[in-house]
Amino acid sequence: MTFPQTDSTTLKRLPKRGHYERETVYGILDEGFICHVGFAVEGRPVVIPTGYARVGDKLYIHGSQASRMLRALAAGVDVCVTVTLVDGLVLARSAFHHSINYRSVVVFGRANVVEDKDEKLAALFSFSEHVVRGRWNDVREPTEQELKATTVLSLPLVEASAKVRTGPPLDDEDDYSLSVWAGVIPLRLVADAPVNDPRLPEGIEVPEYATEYTRD
Ligand SMILES: Cc1cc2nc3c(=O)[nH]c(=O)nc-3n(C[C@H](O)[C@H](O)[C@H](O)COP(=O)(O)OP(=O)(O)OC[C@H]3O[C@@H](n4cnc5c(N)ncnc54)[C@H](O)[C@@H]3O)c2cc1C
Repeated sequence: MTFPQTDSTTLKRLPKRGHYERETVYGILDEGFICHVGFAVEGRPVVIPTGYARVGDKLYIHGSQASRMLRALAAGVDVCVTVTLVDGLVLARSAFHHSINYRSVVVFGRANVVEDKDEKLAALFSFSEHVVRGRWNDVREPTEQELKATTVLSLPLVEASAKVRTGPPLDDEDDYSLSVWAGVIPLRLVADAPVNDPRLPEGIEVPEYATEYTRD
C-alpha cells in the first residue's frame, strides 16, 4: 500500500510534505493527465511533456513510433516522470514566504514496450478515458495500421513519491501584524464551453462529457 522510500525518493527539503501511500500518489496521477518525462540522450538531459494514464501499478504513455522520446525509453534508459497539480497561490506578508499550494509526484524507473495487442488497445482505451471519460465509445477505434504506428510504453510504479503543500501562508511571527493582505488564491482547471468543429455536420449534439467536463 506504500511505496518504499529509496535514496532517490526520500525528501530532504520539508520531508513532512512527503507522502508515500499509493492512494495519495495515485490520486494525484489520476487527476492530472500531463506529465514531464526526463531522460538522457547522448549524455544530455531532455524533459518532454506528454499525456499519460495510470492503470493499476503502471503508467502508460504513447506516441508515434518515430518519437525520439519513445524510442529512447523503449531502449530501456532510466527515466524520471513528474506530474504537478497547482491548487493555489499563497500570498504571504513577506516576499520570502510566498508559496504555491500543489500536489506533485515524481516517479523513477524504466519503461517497457507494450507488445501485446490486447494490452496495447486497453492502454489506449485507458488513455482516452483518462482524459475524456466516455469518449472511446463514441469514436472510431484504431485500425491495424494506426496501432502499428503507435508505440505504447508502460512504466511500472515501484519507486515514487508525492509532495503536497496545503494551507495558508507561513509567515514570520513578527510579520503577522503587518498591514498587508495575506491568504490563498485558489486555482483549478475549469473547462469553458465546447467549440464545435467548423466541419461538424448539423444535428450532432455536443456530448455531456464535453459540456460537463471536469477533472475533479
Ligand atoms: C500537453 C501535451 C501533451 C502531449 N501529449 C503527447 C502524447 O500523448 N504523445 C506524444 O507522443 N507526444 C505528446 N506531446 C508532444 C511531445 O511533447 C513531443 O513533442 C513528442 O512526443 C515528440 O517527442 P520527441 O522526443 O520525438 O521530440 P523531438 O522532436 O525529437 O524533440 C527535439 C527537440 O524539439 C523540442 N521539442 C520537442 N517537443 C517539444 C514540446 N512539446 N515543446 C517544446 N519543444 C519541444 C525540444 O527542444 C526537443 O529537444 C504532448 C505535448 C504536450 C505539450
